[in-house]
Amino acid sequence: MAASNLQIQGLAKRYGNFVALAPTHLEVASGEFLTLLGPSGSGKTTLLSLIAGLSRPDEGRLIVNGRDITDGAPYERDIGMVFQNYALFPHMTIEENIAFPLKMRNMDGAQMRRRTADVLDLVRLPHVAQRYPKALSGGQQQRIALARCMVYNPSIILMDEPLGALDKKLRDQMQLEIKRIHRQSGTTIIYVTHDQEEAMTMSDRICLMNAGAIAQLGSPADLYFRPCSVFVADFLGESNMFDAVLTDVQRGSAGIRLAMGAMGRATLHNDDLKPGDSVKVMIRPQNVHPMMPGEHAPDAMHGGPGLSGKVLDVMVTGSLTKLYVQGKGENALIAAFPTRAGAPGFTVGQEVMLGWHESDAVALPA
Ligand code: ATP
Repeated sequence: MAASNLQIQGLAKRYGNFVALAPTHLEVASGEFLTLLGPSGSGKTTLLSLIAGLSRPDEGRLIVNGRDITDGAPYERDIGMVFQNYALFPHMTIEENIAFPLKMRNMDGAQMRRRTADVLDLVRLPHVAQRYPKALSGGQQQRIALARCMVYNPSIILMDEPLGALDKKLRDQMQLEIKRIHRQSGTTIIYVTHDQEEAMTMSDRICLMNAGAIAQLGSPADLYFRPCSVFVADFLGESNMFDAVLTDVQRGSAGIRLAMGAMGRATLHNDDLKPGDSVKVMIRPQNVHPMMPGEHAPDAMHGGPGLSGKVLDVMVTGSLTKLYVQGKGENALIAAFPTRAGAPGFTVGQEVMLGWHESDAVALPA
């Protein structure tokens, strides 16, 4: 299938004085799965509608494979769209639904049947061709909506909260299914969701948006472990956050004095911070290692900062166990580690030491 590169050059959208999208630059690679993630009202749908041509930008250009499509009508853009509410035609069979975009393009009958059968195979539903949409489950209808979009080989597929109407279990299955279809077809996909887990599971890169602008763009691991702001850290799941002051600054690394007294170092991604600045130091729960008193820290952690505290709660949440620890300061700390059957456990009230690798602590502008 076709795959295309998209360049978004300073695209902006205002409604009166309200800036729905500040001038935005973004390049989506050919065959990439890019997710626009962000809270409600952050501009995700605005950006997607501009790419689709459903609304007009106030500024900026859109380039697909070197061709400027900014002024092209939606149907001239060769961009497919899949919505939350499937939008299948109820009076047509599944086969007729999928063939519809080909019919509009005057494809001949034999070729049309072949393409339709191919995409029904791709979404693994060849046996439903003669059924009507109402005889399919929500997940199956969404796969057909995707098949109908893929059948005419658009350069780019835009998906706006496509799994929003499905229950959790079906969402999880469909996420894997869409990933498989993406891998198999190689199509460029731009996907919108406000669900951070879904974005982390599916994307090559995530474009996290806030208040009509890009807050951070990068791989799921980049955003999760190397956020550039407290907003990004908070939006992508649980974190331990400490108040601290920078004591010295080198390239990519800084000395920190935590408000509760401990000294140490942290990773720094921000060139604007200088010694004396107040910061927040973030460490993901998976990077906090709980140890029994007297237990030796792993080699790589020697010299890293550590805190002691009392276990407040132990929660087994399936594959992860979470330990809530009351340290000397006000913050309760969270440590998370894989649940293992038969492993000696921590008990409520017990004293523990918490340690982390210095490189896993990230200093962020306060
Ligand atoms: P959600 O997750 O809730 O769909 P979103 O990130 O997709 O949110 P947008 O739909 O892009 O957000 O909206 C961005 C901002 O622009 C919102 O504050 C919204 O109210 C505003 N907005 C969108 N369309 C219009 C319009 N036609 N007129 C005025 N304001 C609009």
